Amino acid sequence: MALLATHNLTAHYGDFQALFGVDIEINEAETIAIIGANGAGKTTLMRSISGVLRNAPQMVRLETAEIGSAPADEIMAQGVSMVPEGRKLFPSLTVEENLLIGTYGRKIDGHWTLETIYDLFPILKERRNSPGTALSGGQQQMVAIGRALMSNPRVLLCDEISLGLAPVVIKDIYKSIPKIKAAGASLIVVEQDIGQAMAVADRVYCMMEGRITLSGRPDELSRDDIHNAYFGAS
Ligand code: ATP
Repeated sequence: MALLATHNLTAHYGDFQALFGVDIEINEAETIAIIGANGAGKTTLMRSISGVLRNAPQMVRLETAEIGSAPADEIMAQGVSMVPEGRKLFPSLTVEENLLIGTYGRKIDGHWTLETIYDLFPILKERRNSPGTALSGGQQQMVAIGRALMSNPRVLLCDEISLGLAPVVIKDIYKSIPKIKAAGASLIVVEQDIGQAMAVADRVYCMMEGRITLSGRPDELSRDDIHNAYFGAS
């Protein structure tokens, strides 16, 4: 059985329908990537899984539990945690205070503590008393990932963690993904950068206009397949 699955998931913003019957699944200890152009619906999918956008029942399942209509804090307590697009740190709080916010409502004991987050991102230990505003973009992204990990999630949702960062910083951040997986979490990584997604994912889903247009292992998808799924067949 999949660890997490969506079934015929739809989402609306008022009259506008952003997702049309999305089915994805993620297994234990798996990293999947969701790729797609601007506006394809990737963030909406993440927000639907994490409960920021509420769904009808039956649409999202975590093992045997239906979580589709649960509020976001309950979904987090059950083990699904999101690194939001744009990081969304508390700017006046220190690194350590931002990380500790991630333990709020935590019900799952596990690998992740301040100590293990600092092992993952040593620079955060050096900067633990600095306010969020004093950090570089890459460091802020590390705090956002660390904060989400502090709830000891079974599934970590990462929404465009490379956005706005320099290539060398992106590389650094992406190095943490196999370590997070090795510590027992499954990851859903939303990416516009196809190469980055392919390098890190066990499986990839491509979205276009609110639908999944392609899925498979990176080694079984051709460039043409991906191009067509990303932009539409020409
Ligand atoms: P991006 O890479 O730009 O973040 P995305 O693939 O994550 O794109 P979404 O942000 O999920 O796409 O947007 C999907 C569709 O829903 C787009 O057409 C977008 O304009 C629309 N949309 C997103 N958020 C809202 C909102 N709050 N109100 C109305 N429409 C929205």
